[in-house]
Formats: sequence, structure tokens, C-alpha cells
Amino acid sequence: MRIILLGPPGAGKGTQAELLSKKLSIPKISTGDLLRDEVEKKTNLGIKVKKKIEKGELVDDELVFDILKKRIEKNDCKRGYILDGFPRNINQAEKFYKLFNNDQELVIEISLSENELVRRLTSRRICKNCGASYNLLFFRPKIKNKCDECGGDLVRRDDDREDVIKKRFKVYEDETKPLINYYYKKGNYFKINGEADISEIFKRIYAIIKNYIEKFAERKSDYLQNK
Ligand code: ADP
Ligand code: ADP
Ligand code: ZN
Repeated sequence: MRIILLGPPGAGKGTQAELLSKKLSIPKISTGDLLRDEVEKKTNLGIKVKKKIEKGELVDDELVFDILKKRIEKNDCKRGYILDGFPRNINQAEKFYKLFNNDQELVIEISLSENELVRRLTSRRICKNCGASYNLLFFRPKIKNKCDECGGDLVRRDDDREDVIKKRFKVYEDETKPLINYYYKKGNYFKINGEADISEIFKRIYAIIKNYIEKFAERKSDYLQNK
């Protein structure tokens, strides 16, 4: 089973993916995290993509795809995984489907208004070590500037500046939003209003997933046992 979280930057995809990953014991894969790792390590790929990320533009499909493929081929993805931030356009979705043909694909869109996402992203802090998302206004860490999960330092992302946020939202509207109709037609698409508490949104998403697993998943017990 794979779960795809769609939605504009700041909608809460990373936050919910993290919670789902714990609940379902399957990994969360964020292409943004994978790319930022490469930038941080100054690999060839990292050097190539740095400028695009800083400007809020999408990185070339081929580059994202290669790095994602490597991640999905790891053993921990065998039972399924949660995608946060991929696919970002129809080309990515189709390429992905061709390679990992898997009918047990569930797409959940978290929607949010532009004003609200600007507010969330300008106050977002992420863990430098594990990518976990915190917020100065809505979701503070227990210890100031330290990740609850791993103790890593919390930092502001270079692209979480108002001008770049607006650009990223525009890119979302132009390039990613067509995916909504694409998945809607496939019949595996659900939508959630992202303007509620983190725990409330999690409840709604989990209800959709549970319902889906009970109806369709081949090995229900794998996901729902003792949960
Ligand atoms: P957010 O979670 O705020 O939406 P991400 O971490 O997903 O942001 O993405 C940050 C940046 O990384 C994007 O603006 C883009 O430059 C790049 N990126 C991440 N995922 C993809 C992808 N699937 N395709 C192309 N570029 C991507
Ligand atoms: P995305 O991955 O979609 O870009 P994040 O999960 O990183 O979004 O969330 C963006 C910011 O908003 C983070 O600082 C996060 O802590 C905060 N946040 C996430 N969900 C909510 C929510 N339901 N209400 C308020 N703030 C939230
Ligand atoms: Zn951390």
C-alpha cells in the first residue's frame, strides 16, 4: 500500500506523514528531505538542485525520480510507504506508476488557503537531523530549538521566506494541482480541509485510511494489528 499526501506547501503533509508513519509502521518519504540532504552534503546532485530549491521552482523530474527510486528500493518500503511531496506534476505521477505499478494507492489532499499557509511557513522550523516539522506559533518543541524526536537542532528553511513561499504556492497551483483531477478520475482520491488542529486532521486522515484498508488491502492485519 502506498499513501500519497498532496497539498500546497505548508498544508501539513510532513506533519501528518510523520504521525501516519508511526501509526502504520511504514516509512515516510519526503522528496524535499531527500533533496535537502543532498544539498547539505554538497553531492553532485545537491549542487545541481540547490538554486531551484532556493527559488521555489521544481527540480527536474529525472533527478527527483532517481533519488526517490533508490529510496523506495530499500527493504523497509516493502510493506508500503507514505509519500510527502511527490508527485508534483502529471509526468512524475505517470513515470512512477509505470515503474511501481501498484493498485493499492491512496491519495489524500490536504487543502489550505494561501494566507494560512504563509502564516504557517514563516513560523515553521525543521529539524536539521530528521526533517521533523515544528512551529513557533502552533507546534512548539518541548525544549527550545531542539527536536522532540532526536534532539537535533531546529532551523528555518532557506525557502521559507515570504517571497519564495508565494512562488512555491504559484508553482503548486500551476503544476501540481492538475494531479487532483488526475487522481479523482482514477477513483482513489480524498480531500481534507487542512484548517484544523493537527490531531483533528490526523483523525480524519486515519479514518479514511482505515476504511480503505478494511475494504481493499490484501493483508489487513499487517497494518491494523493492535493499532
Ligand atoms: P513543502 O513541504 O514546503 O511543500 P518540500 O520539502 O516538499 O516543500 O519541497 C521543497 C522544494 O524541493 C520544492 O520547492 C522543490 O524545489 C523541491 N522538490 C521537492 N519535491 C519535489 C518533487 N517531487 N519534484 C520537484 N521538485 C521537488
Ligand atoms: P508541508 O509538509 O505540507 O509543507 P508541514 O507539515 O511542514 O507542511 O507544516 C507546515 C508548518 O505548519 C509546520 O511549522 C507545522 O508545524 C505547522 N502545522 C502543521 N499542521 C498544522 C495544523 N493543523 N495547524 C497549525 N499548524 C500546523
Ligand atoms: Zn529530529
